[in-house]
Amino acid sequence: MKGAKPKLDLNHMNILFYIIIAILIIQFLIEMVLGYLNAKKYDDPIPGELDNLFDPEEYQKSQRYKKTNYNFGLWTSTFSLLLTLAFLIFGGFEWIDSIARTLTDNTMLRALLFFGTILIGSDLITTPFSYYKTFVIEEKFGFNKTTKKTFVLDKLKGWGILVILGGGILLAVIWFFEWAGTGFWIYAWVLIALFTIFMNLFYSRLIVPLFNKQSLLEAGRLKEKIENYASKVGFELQNIFVIDGSKRSTKANAYFSGFGKEKRITLYDTLINDLEEDEIIAVLAHEVGHYKRRHIVFNLVASILLAGLTLFILSLFINNPDMSLAIGVSEPSFHAALIAFGILYSPISEITGLIMNYLSRKFEYQADDYAKNTFAAQPLITSLKKLSKKSLSNLTPHPAYVFVHYSHPPLLARIRNLKA
Ligand SMILES: [Zn+2]
Repeated sequence: MKGAKPKLDLNHMNILFYIIIAILIIQFLIEMVLGYLNAKKYDDPIPGELDNLFDPEEYQKSQRYKKTNYNFGLWTSTFSLLLTLAFLIFGGFEWIDSIARTLTDNTMLRALLFFGTILIGSDLITTPFSYYKTFVIEEKFGFNKTTKKTFVLDKLKGWGILVILGGGILLAVIWFFEWAGTGFWIYAWVLIALFTIFMNLFYSRLIVPLFNKQSLLEAGRLKEKIENYASKVGFELQNIFVIDGSKRSTKANAYFSGFGKEKRITLYDTLINDLEEDEIIAVLAHEVGHYKRRHIVFNLVASILLAGLTLFILSLFINNPDMSLAIGVSEPSFHAALIAFGILYSPISEITGLIMNYLSRKFEYQADDYAKNTFAAQPLITSLKKLSKKSLSNLTPHPAYVFVHYSHPPLLARIRNLKA
């Protein structure tokens, strides 16, 4: 009977099912160990070069913030592991798939229903956690500026983007699969590469305005100084934008996006308020360094190549009915196999993630060096200190945790490099 609740017999599950369970549990345990090692160092003394950064009371607040987040992380990751395991073991995927099957015969619509239900459903289930994180933890430590209205609107906009962009790409990929068989991966790759380049160019123009107001930096001393610096290093820069980051959080940031004519630097209003002019130029010089050293292009090319590799490996397994069975779905389909593949592939993507983080930390040093050589080290050091202090970032992270999770080197390492 279609749509009936499936009975899942664990003795008849294929080996992939057990591999998936093992991957989820091992990843969870590795995270637990890394988090524990890192948390054990929260009470370490502040390194000598940084001990004038906080007064003791502020530092205690900073460490309380980290411990709160650590404990909260234990709860959320345990919850999501148990939820995923329960979903796998009690046939959640088969249940959703069987409902989608009763609603439509169209494979593309089924895939949309299947993914839409899983993604939006899991987002709804974890919403209380993100609500608590924003309105209890961040609030308590004075970071939160988000209103409940902004929080809800952000969610709805996020879903809208997911349905339109994610749904569109999914439909196209399944269409390629039905049309070209396992050769679909080449067409999917071209599509995803074009999409990646398009988003890199137009993210600031198309997506950011849905969430924030951005305006051109007003004429004045800061703008003049920035333009002087940019022309000194031969960097053509028409687009310096200020974004109202203060709408959500007191944390400050700056980033670079796009390339060619579309390249722009975006400064958070919080950054402009918190830093001196020279410090802002130094942060900007760091961002220009990323551009000049071609990090932007490298990251773009690397992510496109990685996507190609992933799609190629996916094409080797996608037709195997065991893939769908691996998550308990009885009727083989592209969408069920895709979920199984996503989990089975995650150890490989963890490794590529490690490599990308390693390179990213190297690039940060290179961009810091660029700022040091073309502007000055001292204002970058003081700006990094101010930003770390404001965001209560960790001054004594565990090296193993840094190796796995940090895309930027820890503050102390960057300061030592800038002083060298
Ligand atoms: Zn950087």
